[in-house]
Amino acid sequence: MGESEESGSLHSFNTEAIHAGVDPMQWSHRAVVPPITLATTFRIEEPTRGAKFYYSRGNNPNRSCLQECLAALEGAKSAYCFSSGMAATMTAAHLLTSGDNVVCSADVYGGTFRYFKYCAVKMGIKTTFVDFFDLAKLEKALDCKPKMVWFEVVTNPTLKMTDIEGVVALVREKVPDALICVDNTFLTPYLLKPLDYGVDIVMHSITKYMNGHSDVLMGSLATNDEKIADQLKFFQMALGAVPSPFDCYMVQRGLKTLAIRLRQHCSNAQAVAEFLEGHPLIDKVLYPGLPSYSQPGLANRLLKEYGGMVSFYVKGSGEETRTFLKNLKIISLGFSLGGYESLAELPSTMTHSQLSDEAKDAIGVTNTLVRLSVGLEDPTDLSKDLDRALRTAIV
Ligand SMILES: *Cc1c(COP(=O)(O)O)cnc(C)c1O
Repeated sequence: MGESEESGSLHSFNTEAIHAGVDPMQWSHRAVVPPITLATTFRIEEPTRGAKFYYSRGNNPNRSCLQECLAALEGAKSAYCFSSGMAATMTAAHLLTSGDNVVCSADVYGGTFRYFKYCAVKMGIKTTFVDFFDLAKLEKALDCKPKMVWFEVVTNPTLKMTDIEGVVALVREKVPDALICVDNTFLTPYLLKPLDYGVDIVMHSITKYMNGHSDVLMGSLATNDEKIADQLKFFQMALGAVPSPFDCYMVQRGLKTLAIRLRQHCSNAQAVAEFLEGHPLIDKVLYPGLPSYSQPGLANRLLKEYGGMVSFYVKGSGEETRTFLKNLKIISLGFSLGGYESLAELPSTMTHSQLSDEAKDAIGVTNTLVRLSVGLEDPTDLSKDLDRALRTAIV
């Protein structure tokens, strides 16, 4: 989709990222940067509950500005922020009632798996984890008439793509009233807008690309459905897993460069993926922008560009792969992704360590699979760092 023909929003993506929610005319001093409002309570005019701002858990000026901007970027009528991605997921799960079923992709963020398997189940919500790449298996799983369906379009760490159009069509046909939720953290609305494909709720770990500076933990939920929006707003206030005004300010600042950051993340990732693909000490590279990618049709149809995450199999032992990771200098060995700084990790013993050996085998998480969040450094320096660390680790 071109920058000037985005659906849902008034202006193009970049313009919304910079201006949505922060019109200086809304403040008497007309500051172009939203003032940070630390007050937990507000002087109201009538002894009633009607005011827009009355108590900071319910709403506050910085969260309100940010939510307006997030909704504009997502092409949503409304968006709500939470104190982490997991707090957003937990709040979304409160749309369910004891006895309800959830069908969730088996290849989902580890924390989402943990939440549904060990936490939501305590409230009587039963989750079935199923392979979303095989629509026949998904169709069978939908026999339980789930109230919620949860998946990611680009999965972690093997960067496989879910056919969002196929999944939405199947769920709408078999279970018309199921809430379809997409975790869009790996892509951001710059690369894909799930609401354009008819899903009900888009969830983000804002902690990653959306904030982009590895200094805020936050989550969000966005929707076009007013009934769902009213419930999310209620649960945001009632459960209270809300972000601070300062964190909202920080994220609003980060969003202003979302488009240019993402463009550079994608171009750096492409360069690093191509470098690794030609490297004698690399077995295989997983990146949607490479000709060798396993699902080129889906990648080209759904994605504006191919993202900032690159995974690869080192040609060596598990021990040599660990040494390689420790040898990296510019790239840090660490959890998380989506920041301006490059990060590498070993999914089998880090992000995906809680999976059983069979589950790791099923999705291709071996002890030589490395996940790279390609940052905004010069891609030539990143390639040199990878090359040096590989050559000193593998003999
Ligand atoms: C990090 C992440 C989450 C959880 O978000 P937090 O902000 O860490 O709570 C959820 N989904 C995906 C895909 C993530 O990468």
